Amino acid sequence: MNIEKLKNAIRNIPDFPIPGIQFKDVTTLFKDAQILCELTDGLSEMYKDKGITKVVGIESRGFIMGPLLAVRLNAGFIPIRKPGKLPAAVYEETYSKEYGGDSIQVHQDAINSGEIILLHDDLLATGGTMVAAVNLIRRFNPRRIYVNFIIELEDLKGRGVFDSDVQIDSILKFE
Ligand code: AMP
Repeated sequence: MNIEKLKNAIRNIPDFPIPGIQFKDVTTLFKDAQILCELTDGLSEMYKDKGITKVVGIESRGFIMGPLLAVRLNAGFIPIRKPGKLPAAVYEETYSKEYGGDSIQVHQDAINSGEIILLHDDLLATGGTMVAAVNLIRRFNPRRIYVNFIIELEDLKGRGVFDSDVQIDSILKFE
């Protein structure tokens, strides 16, 4: 993977959605056929020998690379969604955000005990969303959990909020 080329393909939008946030827009990464292919190849290469049985994507930007990775890894794809979206019985995890709380859900029959799980989202900021997702997935008693992000905002030190049994990887690091 040409890391600089991938980093340059990300569009930075200042003050979106609120003042003070430097929003990293991944649509400019995905719209380029060659870059999308390079990213898919690079990500699947990282996990090809890990025995991943399910890739879990976080709504909504984790739904783009997640299924591409699942296909390459011969794994199933599982969506983690916001409340009220999944139609069958769910497990729910509530977590605190900068202002108030939020919840995420997964179908209760999504994963079997002992599976090897790769969780994917586009970006690691404080880590709150992904820690809640990891806690949700732990209910299924998986054998191993890997966590992957395309982008890591290193200054926010989100990597530090995960338990040490979870392997965290990111491709593109920004300050
Ligand atoms: P956090 O829970 O703080 O790690 O936030 C991660 C979630 O919020 C991810 O689903 C991201 O898509 C989104 N997010 C947070 N900060 C940004 C940012 N600066 N640019 C784009 N997305 C962001």
